[in-house]
Amino acid sequence: MAKRALVAGAGGFIGHHLVKYLVANGYWVRGVDTKLPEYEPTEANEFEVLDLRRLDNCLMATRQVDEVYHLAADMGGIGYINFHHADAAGNNVLISTHLLESSRINGVQRLFFASSACVYPQNLQSDPGVTPLKEEDAHPYDPDEGYGWEKLFTEKLCQYYAVDHGLETRVARFHNVYGPLGTYDGGREKAPAAICRKVALTPDGGEIEIWGDGEQTRSFMNIEDCVDGVLRLVSSDDRGPLNLGTSRLITINALVDLVSEIAGKKLVKRHDLSGPQGVRGRNSDNTRVYAALGWEPKVSLEDGMTTTYRWIENQLMMENRIPTAASR
Ligand code: NAD
Repeated sequence: MAKRALVAGAGGFIGHHLVKYLVANGYWVRGVDTKLPEYEPTEANEFEVLDLRRLDNCLMATRQVDEVYHLAADMGGIGYINFHHADAAGNNVLISTHLLESSRINGVQRLFFASSACVYPQNLQSDPGVTPLKEEDAHPYDPDEGYGWEKLFTEKLCQYYAVDHGLETRVARFHNVYGPLGTYDGGREKAPAAICRKVALTPDGGEIEIWGDGEQTRSFMNIEDCVDGVLRLVSSDDRGPLNLGTSRLITINALVDLVSEIAGKKLVKRHDLSGPQGVRGRNSDNTRVYAALGWEPKVSLEDGMTTTYRWIENQLMMENRIPTAASR
């Protein structure tokens, strides 16, 4: 009998990819979101449009499934979450609380929660050459405002439901996931997608705007590694929280150079020092995930960003925002 899974947030970037990965791995999948996936049809066996902030909807969503993958969140890139603390924390706490409670009521066996590197204290991330963050560094707590506090609270709630109610919970802290089929415009896009869009829209020799001085650092994980890591974690005995990210640190300036090279363009960087840039440096220490799963992300940034750039460039061509090769 195929395992039955709910993917909450199946209309979003990671949720949509996870649905495909679970189906490819023999699962029967119900997808739930307030919207359908934007860029291609879902492969879920069943898809329901439901607002998961409501308990009655969570009870419908979690009926007759063995596993729940909780990736539903009101979120976006730094330009969104920095300015919507009440929405991000308020909406997400409702989704998480109701998904956990309905999973308990419906006898779900395992629940995966997508937490974030935003739970780590800000004072450990004030240097671009940041020491990679270990899971235990989260304490003493000082997460990102709004969004980060909800992630931290739900990590705890997962732990409480596991201990008090026997619901097997698994928690990963994602570090900057990127890839094709993700939002690349409109205000909720993340840095890799925003950079790809800006590079694709800027003619060779033109100027590209970067938030901050570009010396802020991050590590980036390809979506293929992300969904693979999630499935490995859920099948393991480790409840987490575990970091899920790469440990390759790169500045935003270097990421722009990499994407420009992929595009075959030479661009001038203009730094907008008033733009939001988040913490100064953030990297993932993968010692624990490697010990627990014997695995860490594999896709190189060069390969992953090439696929991502080509997809975004193609989207922009289809929207007639850049000339196609045929019309040049
Ligand atoms: P996304 O915004 O593409 O997907 C989230 C989905 O949740 C969206 O489709 C949205 O419509 C849905 N959603 C929001 N409110 C809802 C509601 N009330 N009811 C039902 N669905 C609702 O984001 P993503 O990048 O795919 O992120 C998935 C998860 O991973 C989120 O929990 C996010 O916090 C976490 N995460 C992502 C990253 C990253 O780099 N992408 C990093 C850290 C953590």
